[in-house]
Amino acid sequence: MDALLVGPSADLRYLAGYHALPLERLTLLVVPVSGEPVLVVPELERPRAEDSGAGDVARIASFGETDDPYNLVRAALPNGPSRIAAGDRMWTMFLLALQDSFPSASFSRSSAITGPLRIRKDESEIDALRRAGAGADAVAAGLAGEKAAGKSELAVSRWIADSLIAQGHERVNFAIVASGPNAASPHHEPGERVLEHGDALVCDFGGTVDGYCSDITRTFCVGEPPDEFMDAYAVLAKAQDAAVSAVRPGVAAEAVDAAARSVIADAGYGDAFIHRTGHGIGLEEHEVPYIVAGNTEPLEPRMAFSIEPGIYLGGRFGMRIEDIVVVTADGAERLNNAPRNPIVLT
Ligand code: ZN
Ligand code: ZN
Ligand code: ZN
Repeated sequence: MDALLVGPSADLRYLAGYHALPLERLTLLVVPVSGEPVLVVPELERPRAEDSGAGDVARIASFGETDDPYNLVRAALPNGPSRIAAGDRMWTMFLLALQDSFPSASFSRSSAITGPLRIRKDESEIDALRRAGAGADAVAAGLAGEKAAGKSELAVSRWIADSLIAQGHERVNFAIVASGPNAASPHHEPGERVLEHGDALVCDFGGTVDGYCSDITRTFCVGEPPDEFMDAYAVLAKAQDAAVSAVRPGVAAEAVDAAARSVIADAGYGDAFIHRTGHGIGLEEHEVPYIVAGNTEPLEPRMAFSIEPGIYLGGRFGMRIEDIVVVTADGAERLNNAPRNPIVLT
């Protein structure tokens, strides 16, 4: 590559420490293969860019409302790059304008460069992930003591969101609350449905601490659960444990998926586990490595990802158990340790 061009995104935050707003005005970190990196920002964003400390890694160049910001980009790359890596999250309007600015260059995705940089977390990143996990654990534990019957999914979702903030998160990313038959839809949008005795309740939520994400799922029952639910839950818990136990350096990502999937398939629920086992996590909720069949990438120490098998029986109930783990020298450290048994709520 001759140049890396990154707009507002986790890549920009990772490389320059700047948490930029995604705007219709151009914000772009220009990193030539040699020479000075330049952060192009709108004039009105200059104070935020300077406050972020991005000036330590790049010269900040700003443009006025009637200027052409692409003049600054071309000036930052005087040698006419022929191969450009552009941010995966860049909007089409910016990519098309960059292609017009460098008509003879070929463009590819920045994740080929930033993915391998971000996939192994350093100590300060793991510390932030640990604190995020502990905050999410505290919310999950608090949820177990809440009265659920008679509340709507939305009310429980709001309680979770408020509790995440109270537990030190600066931001809530999502708070899925899925009850009864809705629990069979993994990304159910919480609604007005009121929780009833006999319901399964899937709560999947997360936010950020110092920019790093939490993501936990716990499954509850409202009142005494039916035997069928408990039978499936025992299978799910065994599958989740098997996947966590499979984690160690050198093991292929897909082997962790297979460890969970084979337990669920052997028990006859194979068709009910309708998603991959997990996703990497860091500055983004979902990032590399993906724990999915076909990903033969070997795990390495300091990779962080979720392990979240589920069983979904359409029209009846669903369940999922999700923890974040970090690969250690010889296994996995769980960053979520809230109780995993199916807690009965009143
Ligand atoms: Zn999800
Ligand atoms: Zn989740
Ligand atoms: Zn997840």
